[in-house]
Amino acid sequence: AALRKAIIDNTVEYPEFEGSEHHDILSVSLGFFDGALWKMLRQNVVDRSDKIDVWFSSPARHLIQDPATKTVIGVQIERDHVLRNIKANNGVVMATGGFENNPEMLEDYLGASKLVPLGTLYNKGDGIKMATEVGASLWHMNNYESLGMLHGLAFTVPTGKRGKLILGDWKAIYDGSVFLAGDDGTRYYPEDMTNRHGHVYSHGYWKVPQNNHHPHIIFDKKQYEKFADKETSIYPQAQDMIIEANTLEELAKKIGAVPEKLQEQVAEFNFFATEGKDYAFHRNPETMQAFDAEGPYYALSVSQTVLNTQGGPRRNARAEILSNDGTPIPHLYGAGELGGISAGRYQAGENIAECLIFGKIAGLNAARVKEEVFEHTAEEPDAVSSASQTEKKVNLGSDLDVKETYMVGANQYLGRSNAGVGNEVVVRITVDDDKKLKDIEILKQSETGIGAQAIESMPKEMISKNTYEVDSISGASATSRALKEAVKDAMNKI
Ligand SMILES: Cc1cc2nc3c(=O)[nH]c(=O)nc-3n(C[C@H](O)[C@H](O)[C@H](O)COP(=O)(O)OP(=O)(O)OC[C@H]3O[C@@H](n4cnc5c(N)ncnc54)[C@H](O)[C@@H]3O)c2cc1C
Repeated sequence: AALRKAIIDNTVEYPEFEGSEHHDILSVSLGFFDGALWKMLRQNVVDRSDKIDVWFSSPARHLIQDPATKTVIGVQIERDHVLRNIKANNGVVMATGGFENNPEMLEDYLGASKLVPLGTLYNKGDGIKMATEVGASLWHMNNYESLGMLHGLAFTVPTGKRGKLILGDWKAIYDGSVFLAGDDGTRYYPEDMTNRHGHVYSHGYWKVPQNNHHPHIIFDKKQYEKFADKETSIYPQAQDMIIEANTLEELAKKIGAVPEKLQEQVAEFNFFATEGKDYAFHRNPETMQAFDAEGPYYALSVSQTVLNTQGGPRRNARAEILSNDGTPIPHLYGAGELGGISAGRYQAGENIAECLIFGKIAGLNAARVKEEVFEHTAEEPDAVSSASQTEKKVNLGSDLDVKETYMVGANQYLGRSNAGVGNEVVVRITVDDDKKLKDIEILKQSETGIGAQAIESMPKEMISKNTYEVDSISGASATSRALKEAVKDAMNKI
């Protein structure tokens, strides 16, 4: 109960909101970022695979709408490079996530030139395009959530790569001779300020900060020692990303800032630190120390992160997607962060809650057999996809029914686990004549991030120690567990 209360107290991000006292938390595991909810949901789908067809790598391209009644009667889906018109008996639920990975939409809706995704790399705003094609109204387009260092920053990664989520109180980034510089080399925010999923306090409102293209953490030699301190460093790998220069002018040139602005900024910061007052942004002066008079000086390149966007088609409490005149588009429903309910601010946890709540409402309403008799003008091309509506039943199967077959030779055994964060993990072990582990091959896995490291390193240790019971890789507990479980499953068959 104490843990629950502590979590609730820490996750009510806007206690000033009416009704915030009713904020509660539910968890399906005691773990943290272990994919437990996803695994449970996935298992429920797998258990009902006789009723649910699952298609991987089959993006929806368009909704199919009856031009006369505006009823959504199906979805055009690309599968194996063929566009298939899939008929929906009673409704379609749109749940294609946000536009985290669509640079044009990030620019248009959020005014952000670049955001580093911390989650999916595949949400490209397809649902927004499809919904607007059938006349949906949009909402909450300019809201999104960040997490990470300072006001939701991660160390810069190449475009198209996932950023590393760094949490925890890392004093080196806000306490000492260090500040956060925007594109031109000047400060734009009090570095010790708490934030709410990246929203920073501004004149009574919590706003997502105006993005800089290439912000940097700027510091001097004595602060460098704090970054190098392995005891307190939250991300020791940052050491390898530090940019060094002998002078501020040289540093500014290296990071694409304006040399005079950076020099002026350091002088101003030093003045505030010695005066004991940050006249510009009101950072706690106890966290401000003047920069060394001589170089070297340093910079770390950072970028604003995106956990998820909130914008998408407007929906009502019945999860019906609404058209511009406020009326529901018949048989079209929405759930999840595609048109999430958070307008300008976000009460933490709301996203998953609405995935579950609106997912259920949308699913029930879409499955309900509709009373209205739908007269369809067969043979005529529809308004959106130009696809012919002639009905032709083809059984296209389900990817869950596809059971891969793997070959095993002498002294080889297969093992499987569903305990990972991604799909099933399948391994093939080879043992020698004394039944000792000789090889572990990973035949199937879809783990990402640090999990991929576990997949790389753990089998070697298992082989050298001749056991599946090896240390898990920190930060990849679910993948480690899946790998151990799969190897155990195979070893049990020896
Ligand atoms: C690191 C991290 C931590 C988070 N922590 C929390 C938290 O603690 N609490 C909370 O409430 N929220 C949290 N969130 C946010 C939350 O996870 C998301 O908002 C939520 O998972 C969105 O679920 P969704 O089903 O709407 O979209 P997604 O889970 O993004 O699923 C959308 C799916 O649609 C697929 N898709 C996209 N386009 C197409 C297409 N054309 N055709 C077919 N499929 C398509 C995508 O591939 C994807 O699989 C976190 C997010 C991240 C990244």
